[in-house]
Amino acid sequence: MGARSRIEWTDASWNPVTGCTEVSAGCDHCYARDLAARFAGTAAYPNGFELTLRPKHLYDPLRWRRPRRVFVNSMSDLFHHLVPTQYIAKVFATMALAPAHTFQILTKRPGRMASLLTSAAFRELVVTELPTVIEAASAVRAPSDRSVRQEIPDLVEWPLVNVWAGVSVESQKWANVRIPVLQRTPAAVRFLSMEPLLSHVRLCDCDGAAYEIQRHPFLVNLSCPLHGTVPLDWIIVGGESGPRARPMHPAWPRGIQQACQASGVAYLFKQWGEWAPCPDTGAGRDDVFRFPDGVGMRRVGRREAGRELDGKTWDEYPATVGGAA
Ligand code: SF4
Ligand SMILES: [Zn+2]
Repeated sequence: MGARSRIEWTDASWNPVTGCTEVSAGCDHCYARDLAARFAGTAAYPNGFELTLRPKHLYDPLRWRRPRRVFVNSMSDLFHHLVPTQYIAKVFATMALAPAHTFQILTKRPGRMASLLTSAAFRELVVTELPTVIEAASAVRAPSDRSVRQEIPDLVEWPLVNVWAGVSVESQKWANVRIPVLQRTPAAVRFLSMEPLLSHVRLCDCDGAAYEIQRHPFLVNLSCPLHGTVPLDWIIVGGESGPRARPMHPAWPRGIQQACQASGVAYLFKQWGEWAPCPDTGAGRDDVFRFPDGVGMRRVGRREAGRELDGKTWDEYPATVGGAA
């Protein structure tokens, strides 16, 4: 835990919680579940994929001196209903005291994230946890280390400037459900992880024109994610990896990329995953999958499939107000 991450859009992962339960089709081939099952019973995953608080790891980021982008809970979902609110407050207190790092929280449970981050009571709870974290930090930090705050910060800066909030979106259905909730979540940066992308997703019908609510029935009373009053800051797209990976039609990531480019939203194409586009070859072969429109994808493995979309590597990040960027 806290090892350097191989995930393209982050530097390190931090797992103060491990284990989870599935919520939607994007969870079908959850890598965290497979990994936890493989190492169940070891010190890393004593309870397999059962939700487990890992208080020993609560203060890990306070040891890391070099600024990093930190993926919070790559092996779980911080807003799972079995994680106590007070424990989530401790995680936020740790992040508040480590302003050199940028924390990226990704959830499939945005309802709880929105309700906590808009709640004055939760913010108070974070403040009450700060002295405990400061005391714990003194045990893990070198006395000369100034990368960690030693006094209670002024939480007027709430939402924390070094915490990015994201939701996973694998299909139109979940775009319609999760994006509006993310838009009402206070956060320095709001982002989507569309991985594994399992279908075409239309994020915008207004094409940047004046917003008309009738044209956005799926965004009831909320604004366009790309052009509205709360536009998203960053969108990550990727295909699925692993033995049971589902192919991603090239038009799906391309459509999101074009919408992002037209509206100034940062776009990162993480990977094709297991399947790569193969426009003309391989008809009749078992390692080729054809979509109904005839577009073919060949199973070549993640490494060979790479991460170029239309001849280019898309590695954009949102403009940030601080942290590791
Ligand atoms: S929410 Fe994330 S960690 Fe939890 S089961 Fe789904 S994919 Fe896995
Ligand atoms: Zn729009």
